[in-house]
Amino acid sequence: MESATYRAVLDESGFQKVDQPEAADILIMNTCGCLETLQEKARQAIQKGVGLNAKQESKQAKKIIVAGCYPLIDKGNNLAELGIEFFPPGEVEELKKILGLSEQKTASPEIHSLYSDDLNNQPGFVTKPVKFYQQLKKIENKIGLRSPKLHTFFKSIMMTSEFHYVVVGKGCMGNCTFCGIKLAIGNPASRPLNEIINNIRKGIVNGKKDIWLVSDDVGCWGQDLGSNSAELLKQILLIPSPMNLVINYFEPEMLLEQKARLLNIFRDPRLIQICLPLQTGSQALLKKMGRHYDIAEVLETILEIRKLNPLLVIKTQYIVSFPTETWREFFLTLWSMRFFDGVGVNVYARLKYTPAYRLKPNPQWVDRTRGVIAKAFATLIHLRFVARCMFQWQKGIVRESE
Ligand code: SF4
Repeated sequence: MESATYRAVLDESGFQKVDQPEAADILIMNTCGCLETLQEKARQAIQKGVGLNAKQESKQAKKIIVAGCYPLIDKGNNLAELGIEFFPPGEVEELKKILGLSEQKTASPEIHSLYSDDLNNQPGFVTKPVKFYQQLKKIENKIGLRSPKLHTFFKSIMMTSEFHYVVVGKGCMGNCTFCGIKLAIGNPASRPLNEIINNIRKGIVNGKKDIWLVSDDVGCWGQDLGSNSAELLKQILLIPSPMNLVINYFEPEMLLEQKARLLNIFRDPRLIQICLPLQTGSQALLKKMGRHYDIAEVLETILEIRKLNPLLVIKTQYIVSFPTETWREFFLTLWSMRFFDGVGVNVYARLKYTPAYRLKPNPQWVDRTRGVIAKAFATLIHLRFVARCMFQWQKGIVRESE
């Protein structure tokens, strides 16, 4: 999504996109450093750019710019020695400075939507759900029934240019011992409320109905402005338009902190999907992860939310095989999965410079086994979800704005 923002700025400034890196004068690499494997990918991409420059001795060297969190997380990177400039995630003004565009008028740093030609070139995990979704619509049109929840589920795993993405802020209040995002981004920096509302209104005027709120933790919006995310959601839902609101990443700690106000807001059927990253089903392990909430209370709250908004898709994410995780703790995680409609599973990966890096990792066979079992359980949860949606097909529950 940040790539789409950078591209919007470059398009507005008259830059042209080329299909091959060999043909470019400027290479901008958007990187991630949250996993060792992603860091390695970033290193390889940078190396490839440097290699291209080495090949074309006589021509002017390509300018290489690195975006994203890799340079901020991998403190041992050698960008300075290579003479490569970088800027932090989402900092469009920094990109403009590097390109000497500061005085020029460019697009406001907003993600309006993703570029369909960029999306077409994405790997299978991005493009496949779009194809499944198209199939689902065909089947539903044939049988004359719809399942709004299934639509929501597919929409939330697809990256499509139909969504209107709105960055509401970045950073978080947490200090999770495994997390690289905190190292790179830091404390919450919320986007002003009026900017967010104007952005959403603009999207709606342009015919977008699916609004996706983007942040490292939407739940901590406003903590730096003397406000809170309940107020943000309330103001967004005061916009008197049909819309489908998707919230990606709402930390459970913030959910409990603002529970009283949020429950009332969650009744609104325009809120169609939320991701509450639980990370583990074990309270003891949660503490070692540096996360502070009562798991039982979160799960209870989910049941309350379901009663208020039965069409809301509630997703989560887990890290399995965190250092010191016992089999009992692992099974507690599997047990807690049943509260959710969608489950993402990551096997713990050590990340240098994080506190958890110092903990003794589990043997590799344990990582692998728990990863396989947890992903199989997640698949069961998804199948159960689809089966329930089909039951709703028969009942013919249809969301008005669909
Ligand atoms: S709350 Fe989320 S982004 Fe913040 S440190 Fe924890 S995992 Fe990372």
